Amino acid sequence: MSAGEAGEAPRIAMLGGTFDPVHLGHLRSAVELREALALDTVHMIPVHVPPHRQAPGVSSMHRLKMLAEGIGDTPGLVADDREIRRSGHSYSVDTLASLRERYGEEARLVMAVGHDAFLGLPSWHEKERLFSLAHVVVLDRPDHEAALPPELADLIAGREVTDRDALMAAPAGRLLRLKLPSRMAISATELRSRVGEGKSIRYLVPPAVERYIAEQALYGSEGSAVAAIPGVVGVSE
Ligand code: ATP
Repeated sequence: MSAGEAGEAPRIAMLGGTFDPVHLGHLRSAVELREALALDTVHMIPVHVPPHRQAPGVSSMHRLKMLAEGIGDTPGLVADDREIRRSGHSYSVDTLASLRERYGEEARLVMAVGHDAFLGLPSWHEKERLFSLAHVVVLDRPDHEAALPPELADLIAGREVTDRDALMAAPAGRLLRLKLPSRMAISATELRSRVGEGKSIRYLVPPAVERYIAEQALYGSEGSAVAAIPGVVGVSE
């Protein structure tokens, strides 16, 4: 039973990204994040106007649709268009404020970020306010044990907790580093290159996303419908 069903404060996470395109690394992380923190809902939120990187080549609408197709009926994951509905830079602090408004003061609100994004946190817009709105959960990788830059160490001083219960004891303001069980070496950059070179992305993205990319001729694909897997034949007794 999830925390919300038990009549406790809802447990909600935001997982933002360009999702250009969404892949199984993103989706599996979202599922495992939900399990690890016993969350009710993980809001997967495509960035509309990224403050820290070049705008994605593919429109926000396509990225949102691929995300929705990729999520399908996965329990507890939602493709959330709240950044796409806003104009101007997509600051996470505004997105968290909007989630806080929706779920209330008692909700346990988590902003999940990859380790790379975490290292850039000191340059984020209204970084102190981020912690008044949400917890930060860093999705760590085993190869990231290096000391933190001083500015980041200052920002998180006194906030770090080591387990889920300590995190969920407050609505916001704490930091947890989490190692999820599966770490898939998939990158959206690599996927875009593969499509552009006419190579396969099968088993790296959900079938519905592969189909969508082909049908909409995204990333330089030929625009053909996806055929059945070559060389793989259904076997019946
Ligand atoms: P790009 O290659 O275009 O930079 P990306 O997949 O690395 O794409 P985003 O789409 O912005 O980047 O990623 C959204 C979130 O998912 C980020 O927090 C990122 O750290 C995380 N993420 C990216 N790739 C993986 C992966 N293979 N496994 C788990 N999490 C990932």
